[in-house]
Amino acid sequence: MIVRCTCRNAKLILTSVPSERLYPHLSSLAFVPKCDPASTEDVTRLKEFVDKHERLCVLTGAGISTESGIPDYRSAEVGLYARSTHKPMLYKEFCNSETARRRYWARNYIGWPRFSSLKPNITHEILKHSEHVGKVGCIVTQNVDNLHSKAGSKEVIELHGTAFRVMCLTCDHKICRYELQRTFQKLNPSMIATAQMIRPDGDVDVSQAQVEGFNVPACDNCGGILKPDIVFFGDNVPHDTVQNVKANIESLDALLILGTSLSTFSAYRVVLQARDAKKPIAIVNIGETRADKSVDLRIKGRCGDVLPKIWQLNASKEKS
Ligand SMILES: [Zn+2]
Repeated sequence: MIVRCTCRNAKLILTSVPSERLYPHLSSLAFVPKCDPASTEDVTRLKEFVDKHERLCVLTGAGISTESGIPDYRSAEVGLYARSTHKPMLYKEFCNSETARRRYWARNYIGWPRFSSLKPNITHEILKHSEHVGKVGCIVTQNVDNLHSKAGSKEVIELHGTAFRVMCLTCDHKICRYELQRTFQKLNPSMIATAQMIRPDGDVDVSQAQVEGFNVPACDNCGGILKPDIVFFGDNVPHDTVQNVKANIESLDALLILGTSLSTFSAYRVVLQARDAKKPIAIVNIGETRADKSVDLRIKGRCGDVLPKIWQLNASKEKS
């Protein structure tokens, strides 16, 4: 059971209990690549890094959501690129093709009930707790799954937007994704939204016939094209978001990177920003990352295994 911490001076405590035993309801490893537990030496080094720097900026990627049941794109064997030939839709394709948009929304509609119901895991819970006690000043996430906010984190910058909001390409009107789901249901009463396999942006497989018959609404405000408020592959992160990340890195003491290979430039740019600001950088990730050779600390491991060993959520122990 997780005990919410109310102590402002929470200590970081080492524990050797596996996170699956401590938090069985918060761990699902079906989409997590095989990985040995991090060594005690590595855990100790990470703890020292976290203790040494007063306030952290944390960059998260798909690797922290896999334990909530969302597969990532790139992991060997269990990632989507390894399981299928699927490639995510490109920004240009979405904007230029009504057929592509219809296909996108039909799949997204079917996947939405499951995608939107997924729960934060132990990593999200620990980061929320760490923000509460003042250790984490800001989370920059590449994930569009809203799991940091669901966990209760307040200072979250969504680098690639969120699947939980929809925008109009013409007038910038924004609506809640749940509201759009209700509109889809009214327009497509014979289509049942259920799916087993989902993708990091809520995408699933549906038949060609289902796609062709799917009705997509236009913007209520201006009749324009509706698009999820997500930065698609081939699109750019908004300038204001980049500047917001930069300001947070400059005002905080170090950058901790969790569960990302930093393959996209928008994520790698966060590393460059931290380097420019002369901030120490640590990475926890199962696979190799683009910045392995240029950071202060690099630990191979699963975040849901490593983080509980340095952040103990049990309030009674924190008081010891
Ligand atoms: Zn509009």
